[in-house]
Amino acid sequence: MIHIVPLNDEKPHDEDGTQCPCEPHVFFNDPETGEAFVEPIVLHRAWDGRELVEEAEALMRGETWKGIGRWQKHE
Ligand SMILES: [Zn+2]
Repeated sequence: MIHIVPLNDEKPHDEDGTQCPCEPHVFFNDPETGEAFVEPIVLHRAWDGRELVEEAEALMRGETWKGIGRWQKHE
């Protein structure tokens, strides 16, 4: 399971499972190709309301992790 969490967020995130109080998005498949990811990707929401869409779209397009500066990947 891969977690994408915002850096320096206002509150901590639970990176153990998918039950974080931020109600993260969990992706099991590439929405375009339907291919299963090697590991589920848990995309956490920022408490400070920071925009996630751009990063999520890049991720979905296969531009894996490129351009993620304010987010951190935890495997
Ligand atoms: Zn979270």
